[in-house]
Amino acid sequence: MLKDKLVIAIDGHSSCGKSTLAKAIARKLDYVFIDSGAMYRAVTYYALKNKMIVNDLIQIEKIIKSLPKIDLEFKLNRITKTPEIFLNGKNIADDIRKPEIANFVSQVAEIKEVRQKLVSEQQKMGTNGGIVMDGRDIGSVVFPNADLKFFVTADIETRTTRRFEELQAKGVKISIQEVQANLLKRDQIDTTRIESPLVKVHDAITIDNSKLSREEQLTIALDYIDAIISQN
Ligand code: C5P
Repeated sequence: MLKDKLVIAIDGHSSCGKSTLAKAIARKLDYVFIDSGAMYRAVTYYALKNKMIVNDLIQIEKIIKSLPKIDLEFKLNRITKTPEIFLNGKNIADDIRKPEIANFVSQVAEIKEVRQKLVSEQQKMGTNGGIVMDGRDIGSVVFPNADLKFFVTADIETRTTRRFEELQAKGVKISIQEVQANLLKRDQIDTTRIESPLVKVHDAITIDNSKLSREEQLTIALDYIDAIISQN
């Protein structure tokens, strides 16, 4: 079967550059880009706003009960050409990047019912192909039959510096030690949780971008994509 609209899955640890790669591929191929992490962040934002996380305690039952009231949608920002996430009609693309959200998101993402809701929405988005989605369980759970799977990685120092610089550019006051501690904590939760932990699936291609520029990383990925397209 000739297939020109591929499903591309990109997984990896926090701040390893997977969204950057996913976004660049989508732009190049005119595909839809979905940052699935934004959806877990949006649920965490909702939980914080609605006092379901109090004194660092996550009220799991309350979050589960409120899931039907959480409506998530991505809309394309015409200027940046990037999809932005809307929660019940409100653009929360900037709010979800705050350290407060990063502190709790991995614990919210451990909740089975949260994952079931988001995975089902993500699978619907991929029905027609022409999609690049990044996350932790895209190649393993969301699109196990993806046409192409990448596992993006980078050493912890590189990831910390990138994330720290990103937050500084946004004016967020945080130390480099705090940034690294958060990344390590999220890695730990994401790789050891019971519900669809982050794993490198056997058919994923690893790209270690510690010493690669964005352009080099994109070129490597596009070579694999070209190879798949020419096989079809
Ligand atoms: O990708 P990002 O770092 O924004 O994701 C935030 C968090 O959401 C991750 O640390 C992880 O706990 C969770 N997540 C997940 N499954 C995905 C995407 C993100 O569990 N597919």
